[in-house]
Amino acid sequence: MNNTKVLLLLVLAAVAAAFFLFDLGEYFTLEYFKTQQSAIDAYRQAQPWMSASFFFLLYVAVTGLSLPGAVIMTLVGGAIFGLIWGTVIISFASTIGATVAFLVSRFLLRDMVQEKFASNLTAINEGIKKDGAFYLFTLRLIPAFPFFLINLLMGLTPIRTLVFWIVSQIGMLPGTIVYVNAGTQIAKLESLGGILSPGLIGSFALLGLFPLITRKTLEFIQTRKVLRMYDKPNKFDRNLIVIGAGSAGLVAAYIAAAVKSKVTLIEKHKMGGDCLYTGCVPSKALIRSAKFLSHVKRAEQFGFKSANVDFDFADIMDRVQRIIQTIEPHDSVERYTKLGVECIQGEANMTSPYAVDVNGKTLTTRSIVIAAGAHPFVPPIPGVEEVGYVTSDTVWELRELPKRLVVLGGGPIGSELVQCFARFGSNVTQIEMLPRILSREDPEVSEMVTKQFRAEGIEVLVDHKAKEFRIENGERIVVCEHQGEDIRVGFDELLVAVGRVANTTGYGLEELGIDLSKQRTVAVNDFLQTKYPNIYACGDVAGPYQFTHTAAHQAWYASVNALFGGLKKFRADYSVIPWATFTDPEVARVGLNELEAQEKGVKYEVTTYKIEELDRAIADEEAHGIVKVLTVPGKDRILGVTIVGEHAGDLIAEYIIAMRQKVGLNKILSTIHIYPTLAEANKYAAGEWKRAHAPAGLLRWVERFHTWRRG
Ligand SMILES: Cc1cc2nc3c(=O)[nH]c(=O)nc-3n(C[C@H](O)[C@H](O)[C@H](O)COP(=O)(O)OP(=O)(O)OC[C@H]3O[C@@H](n4cnc5c(N)ncnc54)[C@H](O)[C@@H]3O)c2cc1C
Repeated sequence: MNNTKVLLLLVLAAVAAAFFLFDLGEYFTLEYFKTQQSAIDAYRQAQPWMSASFFFLLYVAVTGLSLPGAVIMTLVGGAIFGLIWGTVIISFASTIGATVAFLVSRFLLRDMVQEKFASNLTAINEGIKKDGAFYLFTLRLIPAFPFFLINLLMGLTPIRTLVFWIVSQIGMLPGTIVYVNAGTQIAKLESLGGILSPGLIGSFALLGLFPLITRKTLEFIQTRKVLRMYDKPNKFDRNLIVIGAGSAGLVAAYIAAAVKSKVTLIEKHKMGGDCLYTGCVPSKALIRSAKFLSHVKRAEQFGFKSANVDFDFADIMDRVQRIIQTIEPHDSVERYTKLGVECIQGEANMTSPYAVDVNGKTLTTRSIVIAAGAHPFVPPIPGVEEVGYVTSDTVWELRELPKRLVVLGGGPIGSELVQCFARFGSNVTQIEMLPRILSREDPEVSEMVTKQFRAEGIEVLVDHKAKEFRIENGERIVVCEHQGEDIRVGFDELLVAVGRVANTTGYGLEELGIDLSKQRTVAVNDFLQTKYPNIYACGDVAGPYQFTHTAAHQAWYASVNALFGGLKKFRADYSVIPWATFTDPEVARVGLNELEAQEKGVKYEVTTYKIEELDRAIADEEAHGIVKVLTVPGKDRILGVTIVGEHAGDLIAEYIIAMRQKVGLNKILSTIHIYPTLAEANKYAAGEWKRAHAPAGLLRWVERFHTWRRG
């Protein structure tokens, strides 16, 4: 807390202490006012503006400082100024006072509360951002909710000050009128109890809830309206149709079958999708072979005089296909049919929210899950079609190793493939228009990977924007713009890996008018519903992540919500999302890194453990990389972890579970890790944190104790 905050807090505490110490509350009672009423009335008649101004300021001060007395002052306002003027004065004074209290709470406490309870408040913050005005309006109208508490609590949320002001002004008006009106009859009032009858409180509550109920009803009508345009079958053939049998579709169908619903899975190519045929599986198989080669090249490091392997690139690529074939049965029609899923090979087309056409037949269904995946994006750079290219979809067909390969893109897919091809012997140039590769990671992480790439002979051109492809004298050339200059790079093969875009055409999305997001994915709400409440989307087609494990994670929500949403719907939970880039060194992450923490304004502490000190890594000749942990300042609560190094993707699992189960660094430190393993790095990172937070004062006393014990 900075000095200004401490000073303000002290002033507020002093005012509150004075209020109670000098028993100022006795001046804010009905009895006291009644004894003074004639004198006050006389003064008001003599000095109407002065008395109104004084009353106004006193009201603002009492409410702004959250002191008790607002109710009495409202009654008194009615008694002194009458219904009209009393209402005008108090309506503005109470809103200004409320806003002052709101701002004070925001200034003093919001950062601290938001930081401390960051993960727990995410849902509340989202709710306030979306419906904050409605909630505030409801609270304002129901006098049962204490006025001062609403001001203080709202100050802790992200609601905008102007919204708070306007809603408070309008929301408090009915209550103000009732109290001011009661104040005009103050002589007859014996206590505050009778002012609001239960009926009146009920009416206010209804009035308060009215906008929220109206909004929800409108939403309900809207969603029903989009469905009403289509004939709803009296009977459905199925409970669920899933479009696409990739990572998302397979899991969605599996879950639906497991809970005994009738589910049909439609796939136009092959069961398994991108991950099995063109994504995770082939890339990891290729990486394994490339890694073997890299070890051969490092033979001397391992104590061999030399080592040599003879290989044919085509055999490596055939091995990749063999691995795919070995895994294929996991995603096969046979397996899924046995699990209770009806599998149809064909191209699905949604003709209504209740009907999907496939192979000339129309199938009716209560719900649909779209899991149509994504495809590589090829930027419309002049000449790109003329020079020709491969993407992550087609690179697996290569059987001849390109002599000179240009890889466009410095993201995870491009980087993994860059290193593989370089290790097989291609002369590889990686072109990235941003200032660094793996730009979602922290700068030192990109730096470590770039350094390794360059050490392996890869030309990494960052800050290079490909602007044209040409064929000159039979040679293929890319022209890049770099710091105002044109840089030309010749190549034999071009691999475009600049991102993947959702598949959103060809299966009825446009015809049904299903909206797309800004990222051109299918727009879904928190429950993964599209604008049709019975059509869901998950996986790459919905985003925001493009991983197999997130596709599977979303698929659970989509399937369960599609089948049981009428009873209970679940919000997709993205609180702990891990991922890895399988370059060498591997880069794995869960939660926040420094870049994201700064972007989101989350305060953090960094603890870094260097793997070069780890016994097992030294024994394995892999003594490089880091475990970098972000924690809440002064606490062992983990905000995020990045691991760079050998098997980082496996090592991070401990931190994923720690974050998910809210286990702090102290507990990781007190857990026995097997010696000598790479996993010990996780514990040592926790140890680094502990060392930095050792209780120095206490240790000084302990040292004195030991000195005394030695005599
Ligand atoms: C090179 C590369 C490496 C990767 N490595 C990893 C990794 O290591 N780890 C990781 O987690 N992720 C990785 N990914 C990402 C991962 O592959 C995807 O996130 C994941 O496969 C997405 O699954 P999905 O089900 O959403 O889509 P997909 O797997 O693309 O499945 C969509 C399916 O829908 C079908 N389909 C589309 N339209 C229709 C229609 N009208 N009718 C019937 N069927 C239709 C398609 O044929 C396709 O089979 C990698 C991706 C690439 C390209």
